[in-house]
Amino acid sequence: MSGVERVVIVGASVAGLHAADELRAQGYVGALTLVGDEPHLPYDRPPLSKAVPAGRLKVGHLQLPQVRELDVTWRLGVAAVGLDRAKRTLLLSDGAHVEFDRLLIATGVRARPWPNPTEAVLEGVKTLRTQEDAADLYTRLQARPRRVVVIGAGFIGSELASACRDIDIDVTLIERSRQPLGNALGESVGSAIAARQRRCGVDLRLKAAVKAIDDDGTGRVGQVRLADGDCIETDIVVTALGSQRNIEWLDGAGLVTDQAGIACDATMRVFTSDGVIDDAIYAAGDVVRWPHPVFRRKFIAVEHWGTAVAMARHAARGMLGSARVEWVPKAFDELPCFWSNQFGLNIKSMGVPRFADSIVVTQGSLEGRRCVIAYGRDGHTVGAVAINAPRELQGYESLIRRLAPFPPDLNVPDWDGQARPAPVPARFPAAGLATHEAPAMVVGPAPADPLAALGFPHSHRRRAIDKEPG
Ligand SMILES: Cc1cc2nc3c(=O)[nH]c(=O)nc-3n(C[C@H](O)[C@H](O)[C@H](O)COP(=O)(O)OP(=O)(O)OC[C@H]3O[C@@H](n4cnc5c(N)ncnc54)[C@H](O)[C@@H]3O)c2cc1C
Repeated sequence: MSGVERVVIVGASVAGLHAADELRAQGYVGALTLVGDEPHLPYDRPPLSKAVPAGRLKVGHLQLPQVRELDVTWRLGVAAVGLDRAKRTLLLSDGAHVEFDRLLIATGVRARPWPNPTEAVLEGVKTLRTQEDAADLYTRLQARPRRVVVIGAGFIGSELASACRDIDIDVTLIERSRQPLGNALGESVGSAIAARQRRCGVDLRLKAAVKAIDDDGTGRVGQVRLADGDCIETDIVVTALGSQRNIEWLDGAGLVTDQAGIACDATMRVFTSDGVIDDAIYAAGDVVRWPHPVFRRKFIAVEHWGTAVAMARHAARGMLGSARVEWVPKAFDELPCFWSNQFGLNIKSMGVPRFADSIVVTQGSLEGRRCVIAYGRDGHTVGAVAINAPRELQGYESLIRRLAPFPPDLNVPDWDGQARPAPVPARFPAAGLATHEAPAMVVGPAPADPLAALGFPHSHRRRAIDKEPG
């Protein structure tokens, strides 16, 4: 393939692996290098907060399948520490320089650490992002702790609380906002989740602030002290406070990066800080923000497994296609899609529920534990969530794609024969209030000024917009 003979992918996880697979599937025969700072071949993270801590799956069985011969040079246990765009060269932590014709950045996110560094290093205070984290947690749970305290009732915190209850371990789940999953699904839905969590035996503390994590006198965690004076004795504290994007290694590379993600155009090519697009550098997965065509080109950031896969494959096709003159770049317009299993509930989300101001239960009921909820903003359908009804969600895709009027006019089976309720406010917590983030968020500017929030000087904005396709 003319012009592209060396492709390098940084980040050896699900996005990196699927990009490599797509490159080979498209017939790319050149050199392919995958750089990953973890010592493992790509593995699956979703079971780390579900089946692994509950003992249903061992970390040794998490490796992601490689369905074809990838012929990859693996650089595992080695981090990328710098990028020289002018020389098209990557600097690695072992001192090596790797040249590329096309680069894919897929460095994902890491768990946000507990903000008090003295408390964060107490024996028994953990975060959950890697297979080592999950294996360690599993071992500790096997030792039957007095109680596990989970701080942050987002998806990962709630799933872990569920895994603890599955193996009959007492768990306290602490959330600063008014409901679990409030930032992801809104508090109107979160209140039904809270009732379910309590019914399953979780000691759920809402509107609760942690004052301190106390040492037991031997360097181990002994208790968690709440601002209301309550103390919870425990041997394990897992802080589930959301994530931070792995972008620091790109400092000085001249890309637009911050905690809202690496700014890309709609085809996943990166923006440079002088306001143009670098045709040789793409990004994919959790580390990215991009202007989503369905959401009127607002920039969104998504931490979803399926989106990472689809985006990586899209980027891989672009990396090869951009070497051909006849190539017409295509926008990545897949709808964000996410699932979670917890407390006997299968929760599946499509679109960007966090963007909504209103919800309406369109099928079933929250109390009946099987329902579909449509999410709307300013009279348009922007998302849908199915609880124990994953297949029903497919019917909502076209509504979200065309931002159909909200509440949606649906011809769907009425499971319980009840009159459909009227829309109610979605009630998302104010910015910064919840301990956790939404896994899909609008992080960018209004459509009228798509680069305003990226910090581009005015004179540079037009150039970057002009470079965007379609
Ligand atoms: C506990 C848990 C449960 C989850 N459950 C679900 C779920 O139920 N459903 C769902 O849709 N999603 C879920 N997710 C999210 C999903 O796993 C992510 O969306 C997905 O892993 C993103 O893939 P990625 O390749 O973009 O990034 P990551 O998986 O974060 O991988 C990035 C890789 O790059 C490496 N890296 C970082 N910096 C460098 C560097 N400088 N040099 C080299 N390598 C580097 C990282 O160490 C990592 O290996 C879950 C995530 C976690 C942690």
